[in-house]
Amino acid sequence: MYDILIENCSIISMNKRNDIFDRCSIGITGGKIESIGPDLKGGASKVIKGKGTYVMPGLINCHTHVYQSLIEGVGYDMHFNPWNIRYLIPIVSKMKPHHARISGELAAIEMIKSGTTTFSDHWYLHTDFNNIEEEAEAFNRSGLRSHLVFGFLNESFAGRKNANGSGAEVLKEESELLERAEDFVSRRHGQNLITAGLGPGSTEDVGTELFRKIISLARKLDVSLVTHIAGWVEIVSRSIEKYGMRDLEYAHSLGFTGDKSIAIHGVWLSEDEIEIAAVTGTGIAHNPVANMNLGYGIAPICRMRKAGIKVGLGTDGAASYTYDMFEIGKAAAMLQKVHKLDAEALTAEDVLSMLTREGASLLGIDEITGSIEVGKQADLIMINADSPNILGGGRPAPLIAYGARSSDVINSIIGGRLVMEDRKVLTLDEKSVLSDANDARTELLELGGSAVKELLDAPWPGRGASWRRLDGQIS
Ligand SMILES: [Zn+2]
Repeated sequence: MYDILIENCSIISMNKRNDIFDRCSIGITGGKIESIGPDLKGGASKVIKGKGTYVMPGLINCHTHVYQSLIEGVGYDMHFNPWNIRYLIPIVSKMKPHHARISGELAAIEMIKSGTTTFSDHWYLHTDFNNIEEEAEAFNRSGLRSHLVFGFLNESFAGRKNANGSGAEVLKEESELLERAEDFVSRRHGQNLITAGLGPGSTEDVGTELFRKIISLARKLDVSLVTHIAGWVEIVSRSIEKYGMRDLEYAHSLGFTGDKSIAIHGVWLSEDEIEIAAVTGTGIAHNPVANMNLGYGIAPICRMRKAGIKVGLGTDGAASYTYDMFEIGKAAAMLQKVHKLDAEALTAEDVLSMLTREGASLLGIDEITGSIEVGKQADLIMINADSPNILGGGRPAPLIAYGARSSDVINSIIGGRLVMEDRKVLTLDEKSVLSDANDARTELLELGGSAVKELLDAPWPGRGASWRRLDGQIS
């Protein structure tokens, strides 16, 4: 007797042999996949008809900042730094625990509805140390599997100490950050579906001494280390100027690299740095849509994967304007094809791998998730393959990697728990979360002050609108 039995579906297993099973069933018991076979006997508490569906491992978003789910549309089509100083800091420096809870719930609903079952969040907004606790609780309620990175900022937030006289609230004392981080990790790592990690914001957000201490704390607690590395050109120039080394070379010199370490972005890694990442087992969280939207550049992920580096895909924060990992996967492939003038540069199969088992490997959880195999956690999604959008029968990899979108995901199961059925999220009340999110967004935009208000009231912008320039005045 299974807890859940999915009958007669097509399974894209993403196991090491890349098996695809047609007209097959999946039996789930105690949170795990117990059986896969054509005709499973024994009955189940819950039977789900799988005819006309593809069942695949749930998607894995390897990097985001969920708090930004409340501030999309405030400052856009601009590089990170004017956006950061002019709009991000004035708003996020006001974030309180109830905003954290609501942003987490809002992001969770979008993630579940678009087929994500696991994500990694980098939370550094310790304007109140309860923010990250509220976030963790929101994800516990949602049923998502999460990798929660306790972030650190003590010197700057992406190079800025203050914005419009505010923003210092996001910077905290080294000793308090270390103490709180250790406490957070010891309570949350392994709780429900949470794994925890430690994350210096970037090489410019924390000083050398704190960076070293975070590395040794992560080694002591045996958890992951995650930081933004070489995302944009200026941070590499700054690193060379200040330390005489490129960004990853500097982090490597402090001991950052290793098989539990994740460099976010890595757009401007040199050939030597790719070698460092490959030799040390350091992985990359690649965020193609955010990188394109912010004008960061094209990360050399084909070269990285060829060198044996684990590469997972992520949305990053609000700059992607989506949590739909199908969009991210498709964009990743299209970007490399056009960049390399090679239609085979990144294939549909590569995309599916990065979205599932490779992402799980990057987050260090590939023993338990990332593929549909007996004994693994039941983290899987069901995709409608009987619609004008996806008509089954062709090869499934391109149909899913290039054709699927969030609305094609019908059901989602995480750790054996049905969290969405017929597109209704069962773990959170979507209507009330949206209502709370609207209120919280209004409140935060008001707290953002005059620059935010002037932006929202500004007319349709022409090219080079003044509010997009770092020194620009809104008029
Ligand atoms: Zn990020």
